[in-house]
Amino acid sequence: MTAALMDYDEVLERFEPVLGLEVHVELSTATKMFCGCANVFGTPPNTQVCPTCLGLPGALPVLNGVAVESAMRIGLALNCSIAPWCRFARKNYFYPDMPKNFQTSQYDEPIAVNGSLAVELSGGSLFTVEIERAHMEEDTGKSLHVGGSDGRIHGASHSLLDYNRAGVPLIEVVTKPIEGAEARAPEIARAYVTALRDLLRALNVSDVRMDQGSMRCDANVSLMPRGSSTFGTRTETKNVNSLRSVERAVRYEMCRQGAVLASGGRIVQETRHFDEATASTSAGRRKETSEDYRYFPEPDLVPIAPSDDWVARLRTTLPELPWQRRARAKTEWGLSDLELRDLVNAGALDLIAATVDAGAPAAEARSWWVSYLSQQANSRGVELADLPITPAQLARVIALVAEGALTNNLARQVVDGVLAKEGEPDEIVAAHGLAVVSDDAALTAAVEQALAAAPDVAEKIRGGKVAAAGAIVGAVMKATGGQANAQRVRELVLALVSA
Ligand code: ADP
Ligand code: MG
Ligand code: ZN
Repeated sequence: MTAALMDYDEVLERFEPVLGLEVHVELSTATKMFCGCANVFGTPPNTQVCPTCLGLPGALPVLNGVAVESAMRIGLALNCSIAPWCRFARKNYFYPDMPKNFQTSQYDEPIAVNGSLAVELSGGSLFTVEIERAHMEEDTGKSLHVGGSDGRIHGASHSLLDYNRAGVPLIEVVTKPIEGAEARAPEIARAYVTALRDLLRALNVSDVRMDQGSMRCDANVSLMPRGSSTFGTRTETKNVNSLRSVERAVRYEMCRQGAVLASGGRIVQETRHFDEATASTSAGRRKETSEDYRYFPEPDLVPIAPSDDWVARLRTTLPELPWQRRARAKTEWGLSDLELRDLVNAGALDLIAATVDAGAPAAEARSWWVSYLSQQANSRGVELADLPITPAQLARVIALVAEGALTNNLARQVVDGVLAKEGEPDEIVAAHGLAVVSDDAALTAAVEQALAAAPDVAEKIRGGKVAAAGAIVGAVMKATGGQANAQRVRELVLALVSA
């Protein structure tokens, strides 16, 4: 059953949208939050488990120090204050993917509070999103519902459980209610999640792969009648797993809620499920209130009281953050606002910067990422950052071109080899014999052949038409599969003709 939808413009005439975004990120620590099990994605089910993350009686948690530091660094990068003292709490509920029957989380004492994140919108303007808190918790296991048509529990014959993910460190970043977004609410939701992803990537604390679930967004949306100052009832669309879906889910909820309210109905506070295929949401469970969870302080873990020194030291570990990098790129690479925005939108800025850090000139790095590699990413349907080539590998290819060891054409073949996972650039050059031929003996033979095949051209050059040498150079390049050093070939042509 599809819900009635109100026209988007009418929604905005009659209501003001209010958003709240909750983003969960899995930290890429070596081990889980409270035990020594490996924190890795994609291993066979139930191979990364122990008594602690399986919740067996008597097993005790030990806190992962790296996860705490990551949480604090995230808090600092989001301009939050770090709590001088905080604790974990037990969030009690029963669900088979959580064998302890409670989630170790933080409740009223989060590690970081009151921050902000400035997000850039498509026109280049900034919108500041206020952050309520960033807190630590653990992930649950994964249920696999088998026997139905769509992998959901309805219609399934049975369920399988994989506890590898149980106990993986999570940070939840929660915004304050976002007001004033108006018609740009869907865009702001997307831009916020994008900015947060870029920030976390720069901090190097998470893979932030929405497609693999290491970054997940719950989008809260409500509508407030124009003229009212009391928030409407919100719905929470869970686990929206792409940037585009965040935008579409917010827009859909605005139109659905507008229609419900206009027809005299009420919005129920509930979770909703976003369906990628239809770009619509459907009702999930009625939302528990926090009393239902019977939160209480976790008795098995000591409180965390970061010293000022510790916080100050972590502050010094913050890398250049995305907006700082943007400002620097703009001045150092001499970009216009528009050029900068195009690079940011293409997800190329960090990659170019990393390529420059690896030794490549900015102009070359930029040209590779925005043209050839962008085409490759498009044709594979992946994000630029997910192409299997690193900035360091690209920088090496660029260096080989600068040294004259590769032509642009050969460089592209080497990059293709890296993308095909054939190895490092130097290995590919060696394996395929792709290096530029600068060997005079080989080149002289090729030039002699080309001159012999085109005596009229040779005659012209001899008669003083130096420009005609280009035809011979072209023939040699063709004969050598583009591998000849064109500069040297030209010198040899002129030398041989005048000899
Ligand atoms: P819950 O535990 O129910 O998910 P949280 O406090 O973790 O609650 O997150 C709720 C999110 O929704 C926050 O981002 C909050 O700012 C936002 N929010 C609260 N009230 C509203 C509302 N009426 N409309 C839209 N968003 C809201
Ligand atoms: Mg929540
Ligand atoms: Zn474990």
